[in-house]
Amino acid sequence: MALEIVKAKGMYMWDADGKQYLDLIAGISVCNIGHCHPAVISAIREQSESYMHLLVYGEFVQSPQVAYAKYLTDHLPASLNSVYFTNSGSEATEGAMKLAKRHTGRTEVIAFKNSYHGSTQGSLSIIGDEYWRNAYRPLLPDVQHLQHNSMDMLAQITHRTACVIAETIQAEAGVLAPEKAWLQALRKRCTETGTLLVLDEIQCGLGRNGTLWAFEQYDVVPDIVLAGKALGGGMPLGAFIASRDVMWSLTDKPVLGHITTFGGHPVACAAGMAGMKALIEENMMVGIPDKERLFLELLKHPNIKAVRSRGLMLAVELEDFPAVKKVIAHCIANGVITDWFLFAANAIRIVPPLIITEDEIRKACAVILAGLDAL
Ligand code: PMP
Repeated sequence: MALEIVKAKGMYMWDADGKQYLDLIAGISVCNIGHCHPAVISAIREQSESYMHLLVYGEFVQSPQVAYAKYLTDHLPASLNSVYFTNSGSEATEGAMKLAKRHTGRTEVIAFKNSYHGSTQGSLSIIGDEYWRNAYRPLLPDVQHLQHNSMDMLAQITHRTACVIAETIQAEAGVLAPEKAWLQALRKRCTETGTLLVLDEIQCGLGRNGTLWAFEQYDVVPDIVLAGKALGGGMPLGAFIASRDVMWSLTDKPVLGHITTFGGHPVACAAGMAGMKALIEENMMVGIPDKERLFLELLKHPNIKAVRSRGLMLAVELEDFPAVKKVIAHCIANGVITDWFLFAANAIRIVPPLIITEDEIRKACAVILAGLDAL
């Protein structure tokens, strides 16, 4: 996009010439509470004045990590009571795969076509798109990519399978939500075979879909949940979260099953906790269904083939990628930032900060519709 942004606050960004942009992508689901929330800024200030890095993660008790882990687990099902903080979403995926192998003593990992889990070699091995994987072979062995949302694939999960990793809502595929019955059947099959179910909520979690965690809408509880993006309130932070019993597998033979120097950085944890508190205490999830409905009501146009949505995560499907590019360019020229998806070339991504107002939704949609008129 070649945009140089010099300042961002709440729903807006400004470039070096002072032009204002309404942000409809929130750093791809990072800035769920808006840019530079004052509580996050104070938490960063306070923590950075106390201490920043002390020692490789784990040796000292660093209270911002403990406090945030406690806050997170207070907002998760009781079985997800142990948090390992990482630097990124990809590292959370890596940690979860290692944990599943170590805990089950198995090697097979099952993932899904069109899924995205990160860009390191382990997480790249399980993403569900050959174009993005192929140039980096050889990748991890014993990985299968199966059809998402298909009852037929369930039989492929066996006593050999260490874990099944799925995005609760497939984001880069263009917002694909599985059937509730499928996710529940997947949970059941994993339990029957002693396979760990890992749900990647890096993009769809932390309020994006209208509930704190997307899996809440499916009445399933994963064995491991992956968080990232909005987890740090704008700072780099990821986590894999499991039961203490499962997590304990990383403590023995070898003792340090996963090592990270900066994962769980005290400043990132302080910022993340302030951000998550703002999300909850300022009731930012409350209006999401109404805002989603308003987007769906307004985004009607002969050039729109379909709109898929899950809370404030929307994919607006057009004819093809050139059409998507034209509309995105029109939006930027008119002060609205949108984006595309990795695996859904014909769709525009809309994932605004959750604080977007109805008035801002109307203004943003008017710009998008004018871009569609000009196709
Ligand atoms: N999983 C999902 C669902 C994601 O959307 C992303 C980032 N786009 C990742 C994992 C990887 O996170 P990161 O870029 O922080 O490594």
